[in-house]
Amino acid sequence: MNLMPTPHTIDFTKASFKDFEAIPGLDAFQRAEIFSDYTDHMLTHGQMNFRFITKGCGPVVDVLSPYSDDWKTCVSLVSNDYLNFTQHPKVKQAAKDGIAKYGTGAGASPLIGGHHEYHVQLENKLSSFFGRPKGSSIVFTTGYTANSASLLSLLKSDDCAIVDMAVHASVYEGLLYTNTKRFPHNSVVHLERALADAQEKYLTRLVIIDGVYSQDGDLAKLDEIYALTKRYGGYLMVDDAHGIGVLGERGRGAIELFGLLDNIDIISGTLSKAFAHIGGFIIANPKMVNYLRYQSRQQVFSSTSTPAAAGLLKALDLIDEEPEWRRKLADNVTYYKRGLLDLKLNIGTTASPIVPIKIGDPHKTEQAARLLFDAGVYANCIVYPGVSRKDARIRTSIMATHDREHLDCALNAFEYVNRKLKIAKDA
Ligand code: PMP
Repeated sequence: MNLMPTPHTIDFTKASFKDFEAIPGLDAFQRAEIFSDYTDHMLTHGQMNFRFITKGCGPVVDVLSPYSDDWKTCVSLVSNDYLNFTQHPKVKQAAKDGIAKYGTGAGASPLIGGHHEYHVQLENKLSSFFGRPKGSSIVFTTGYTANSASLLSLLKSDDCAIVDMAVHASVYEGLLYTNTKRFPHNSVVHLERALADAQEKYLTRLVIIDGVYSQDGDLAKLDEIYALTKRYGGYLMVDDAHGIGVLGERGRGAIELFGLLDNIDIISGTLSKAFAHIGGFIIANPKMVNYLRYQSRQQVFSSTSTPAAAGLLKALDLIDEEPEWRRKLADNVTYYKRGLLDLKLNIGTTASPIVPIKIGDPHKTEQAARLLFDAGVYANCIVYPGVSRKDARIRTSIMATHDREHLDCALNAFEYVNRKLKIAKDA
């Protein structure tokens, strides 16, 4: 292999992370070095609007300012801890009790000694949470691996995944061994074409969508997509990481909203958002779950939840026992969205606690994030490759424990940003 350590020609002022993935002629360590030069450049130019250091999850958090190196108390609009159960005394106590009873770690991967009583309790509780029989659920280390590890074990060269273009990165990672067709976000017309085209060519046709999309906060057209998938003999997998625990009368997620809880072939979810811990899961028929237990490599070669997952057992109970958190969250979202719309900001088609403020221009979006921070509001700046190049936005997520004062502070900060940068639709 002829390595050519030539000086790189990447223009840091125009570059994005994607440009550093495979620089021709450089080895992995050389690529890392140039990438570090790039992140240093961003830091010194005040463009490092992510990976802030904070002190836990809550409606208000202390954030270490990358601009001044001081801690600053901010209203937080970045957390997926939608119900703020990470701070719920009963959840915390249950996690402590789990550690007191079982210790701090799982000790091994599930197949060789790391599948404990609390894992079984968690899986049983998840099955019944979704109204499915015992054996319908399997827990993974993260939501990411619930998707990637299960899909890697399920779909091979004679199969095909038909995916909404906006699905999560973990789904794409799971499709390395199979054929993939992408359809434009929520386009049932394109989905139908893909299903028709794949029908005779592939043994399994697995349509994969999110319930709630993580950047726009909008919902899948679940009813239409389900009907189409079944008409063409396909299977449907829904990743409802952002919907479960939050949406629906009983908090079962986007799938509950569409009345399809009993129908979806594979549901994937995370334990890191509304359920306030870490981990992921798959819900499917018990034979499929059994297959994943022995065939998905993560189950064989990697450990899953620690005993602090006992907190999850309580969080799952609280979804039924304390529905007021869900109601408070919904009220907050309505109030906040109305405030943003009054400012004529573009919030797209969100139908969840994820609310993007679409700006378009990446530079302006970075400036907006900085101004928000100056005004005491911590929100994420999302630019390419998180979203397409012309679709940069401030991504915000609302929690049940935000109060009106926090939301008003955020709205005032957006009003200030709009005055400075003219980000409103009619500006
Ligand atoms: N699916 C979606 C839609 C997500 O947004 C995320 C996390 N952002 C995941 C899966 C992965 O979840 P986890 O953080 O538990 O790995």
